[in-house]
Amino acid sequence: MSEERKTRVRFAPSPTGYLHLGNARTALFNWLFARKRDGDFILRIEDTDQRRSTKAYEESLLRDLRWLKLDWDEGPDTGGAYGPYRQSSRMKLYRNYAHQLVKDGAAYPCFCPPEETDARREEMSSRGEPYRYDGCCRKLSPSRRRALADRGLKPALRFKVRPGEVSVRDLVRGEVKFDSSLLGDFVIMRPDDRPAFNFAVVLDDGLMEITHVIRGEDHLPNTPRQLLLYEALGLPPPRFAHLSLVMSPERKPLSKRRGDYSIHSFQTRGYLPEAVANYLALLGWSPPGREEIFSLKQMVGKFSLEALSPSSAIFDQTKLDWVANSHIRLQDPQRLTDLALPFLKKTGFTKDVVADKKYRWLQQVVETIRDEISCLSQVADYAPIFFQEESIPEEELAAELADDPRKIKMIVRLEESLAAAVPPVPANFWDKLFSRLQDDTGLDGKKLFPLLRLILTGRRRGPELKKILPLLPYELALKRARRAREMTGR
Ligand code: GLU
Repeated sequence: MSEERKTRVRFAPSPTGYLHLGNARTALFNWLFARKRDGDFILRIEDTDQRRSTKAYEESLLRDLRWLKLDWDEGPDTGGAYGPYRQSSRMKLYRNYAHQLVKDGAAYPCFCPPEETDARREEMSSRGEPYRYDGCCRKLSPSRRRALADRGLKPALRFKVRPGEVSVRDLVRGEVKFDSSLLGDFVIMRPDDRPAFNFAVVLDDGLMEITHVIRGEDHLPNTPRQLLLYEALGLPPPRFAHLSLVMSPERKPLSKRRGDYSIHSFQTRGYLPEAVANYLALLGWSPPGREEIFSLKQMVGKFSLEALSPSSAIFDQTKLDWVANSHIRLQDPQRLTDLALPFLKKTGFTKDVVADKKYRWLQQVVETIRDEISCLSQVADYAPIFFQEESIPEEELAAELADDPRKIKMIVRLEESLAAAVPPVPANFWDKLFSRLQDDTGLDGKKLFPLLRLILTGRRRGPELKKILPLLPYELALKRARRAREMTGR
């Protein structure tokens, strides 16, 4: 393969499930590689399995890729010079090439009933042995073939595997050698005229002039078969990079049909797309230097296949949340507020129409809680501080009060001062009130502030109190102080 060829890579999902962290990472690495080399990123839909492929899955794949901002240069919706980009629209092409291989003597019709070969495969795999077709129909004479075909039997087409070694020079795993005699002649066209997976992939990659195939290592066993097909078809093979798999924390491969690790589920929880992309990249890629928080554009600059690890990557929620929080901190306040709005609405915090003044206040609320959260659905944990008349947890207040009788006096004073104030309270109101409370009760800051936080926000933890108070509606603060006083019985 000449190095001058323009880099062309592809992401080739089968629309039989949702885009999950594992296949989204494959898409991302392909995209980064293409963008880094000013190449093309192609989206191809591998929908030859018509029983399991659905239009809805295809649409969700495209939607999720767009959400991650992985744009493609050619694909089923955008078209391109190498189309069509859906395998179901390329059936004629697979048939023509398969028949050419038969004519050339590189493939032959196989009349073995699929039930028989399937049963044999199952039997072997139950014994833990790899299945290999015994080559029975390779030896059929032309007249015998004609006779079987005349009986109306529909043959599969099998590829004649040449003996010898097939070596894959993988860009992640180094050289991997296969003994082709262990492969057996494999099917390239099924009796119903559908191409087998390996055959369709090779023709597509070959004819679409793909230069690098970057995909999951579960496809490594397919690669020797694919290389043999390139040889027979006279197409230059691409270079291969097989990525380690992404595993769940229980060390199981991620499933396309179970939703937990789907990209959509991260979207609905309000993770930012740039955070998900950044986290995905760190699953198996070691960026140069110590920095780990990147925009897509920054990743393009730093990405290389050589820095990918061959060992499997395990999903780590804590790390994702750290990356996601870092991106939330970096967001432009207005964009973050706009993105948080749908989640705030779900909490009942704000109606559909947000008036200008309220929007500014809302933006400040979001600014106040942004450091605490990793995804925007978590605003529901903190937003109630600013609008809900939630009660103060009784047991926690009782525990707070147990160690110092001066605390009850403080609560009485707090309620009295708030009741006496005339809203809107001035900016320095809270500072002045707190130093007065300290003077009156003799409580030091260590005892005073945790208690004030519990009373005024209804919880022990959260954003800094001094950031919350200017945004806390005065009536709400008064109600909470009143409730705390009632709880003390004074
Ligand atoms: N369609 C295959 C899949 O979804 C990918 C094929 C390939 O990358 O070669 O696993």
